[in-house]
Amino acid sequence: MSDRRPLHGQCGECKYVWAVVYLPMDATKAAEAMLRATCPMCGGREVFVASNADVAEAASNAG
Ligand SMILES: [Zn+2]
Repeated sequence: MSDRRPLHGQCGECKYVWAVVYLPMDATKAAEAMLRATCPMCGGREVFVASNADVAEAASNAG
């Protein structure tokens, strides 16, 4: 029932990676959330969908 996967975004300015939305979610809403997302670290407006590699790297850098 609760099989939600985070969809990560990556800031184009500081490269911070975070979970912007959780899937499954309406694709249009998810896309909208990505477009409207701002970086929680630097407030950057340029947010890309992070690849799995980016997410893994961010996780390994967190420690
Ligand atoms: Zn940023």
